[in-house]
Amino acid sequence: MIYKQFKDKKLSTLGLGNMRLPHKGEGLNAPIDEEKARELIEYAYLNGINYFDTAYGYHGGESERLVGKVLNQFPRETWYLATKFPGHMMTYKDGKLGFIGYMSGSIFDSPEQIFEEQLEKCGVDYFDFYLLHNVCETSYDFYTNEELGIVNYFLEQKKAGRIKHLGFSAHGRAKTIDSFLSKYEGCFEFVLIQINYLDWVLQDAKSKYEVISRRGIPIMSMESCRGGTLCSLNPEAEAILKKARPDDPIVHWAFRFLQSLPNMQVVLSGMSTMGQLKENIELFSKNDPTTEYENELLMEAVNSMADLVPCTACRYCCDDCPQELDIPKLISLYNEASNSPTFALSFTLGAMPEDELPGSCIACGNCVQMCPQNIDIPDVMAKFEDILEKQTLQPR
Ligand code: SF4
Ligand code: SF4
Repeated sequence: MIYKQFKDKKLSTLGLGNMRLPHKGEGLNAPIDEEKARELIEYAYLNGINYFDTAYGYHGGESERLVGKVLNQFPRETWYLATKFPGHMMTYKDGKLGFIGYMSGSIFDSPEQIFEEQLEKCGVDYFDFYLLHNVCETSYDFYTNEELGIVNYFLEQKKAGRIKHLGFSAHGRAKTIDSFLSKYEGCFEFVLIQINYLDWVLQDAKSKYEVISRRGIPIMSMESCRGGTLCSLNPEAEAILKKARPDDPIVHWAFRFLQSLPNMQVVLSGMSTMGQLKENIELFSKNDPTTEYENELLMEAVNSMADLVPCTACRYCCDDCPQELDIPKLISLYNEASNSPTFALSFTLGAMPEDELPGSCIACGNCVQMCPQNIDIPDVMAKFEDILEKQTLQPR
């Protein structure tokens, strides 16, 4: 495992994300398959990973509990736990904190109540890394609300030693990240952003990387493989990359690209199978960054995928859909339909009942506020329906 110095700590450059742990059944809140998840976390720890990322809302709140339980078998100073404050899905009204989305109904008096609950659930008396979850255009006012004083509260916890390093994750645009960092100059020690070679272009992760790096703040990456999208590409993009490194699995390009960014501190990956975990640990046993020429090839490959809708399959949008649509699945099918449809796609669509197809979307917009990627989901559904209605699906 390659390690990089972060202040007084040596962090593994590969970190284990715990949002997509093995689970029983479907859906964002499907119960964790505890035996398989425990095996993964233990293997990660025993094979050199020391950075473990979770969040208040992952797996309906059970990710924090399980990650804490498994890690606590090992000496506390040998692993680093990162979790997040769920402000991106909260409201503040009449002095009360409430939730939107799949946790709506829960009311809290203060951030302290949530923070104490997190410490208790994880079985720790301090967090090594603590993040404000998803600073973006829709959560900005919440996080900067002075009456509520979120940032000050967590700075106090840091002073008290209950948070070792304070940071935030962000799906917002570069300008929003920049303005948040300016407002709280010197308060945050790291930032977690969605960064991979496709989003370098599609979501302008390049600008976000530059805005943060300019301030000398280390970056952690999430959605390194974009929820699996970068494990296999369309035939044109694959051909470009295979020509240069015929024996390399396509997914290696995603990790090697991140290794090529000098300000990358930890690359998070939500590995949900033992096979993925072992392969990635092996990949991070040595530094093998993409070269400048290879990055040009990656951009060429991206150009052949540039119409993709940037869905990461986080499923935050699904619970409030009155039509119970599997939105990420439909977006993924749309990406394929609008880019590189195959016969398999026709079979998949043909097997889906009418009420699961994009035509069932009533454009209510409930999903839009929940989407960290700012995807105009009703518009995607309409375009997808259009493709299906016009039967412009031409499998090739
Ligand atoms: S806009 Fe469509 S996809 Fe989104 S919540 Fe409403 S019905 Fe579901
Ligand atoms: S559409 Fe947005 S909220 Fe829904 S799964 Fe994709 S990225 Fe997540």
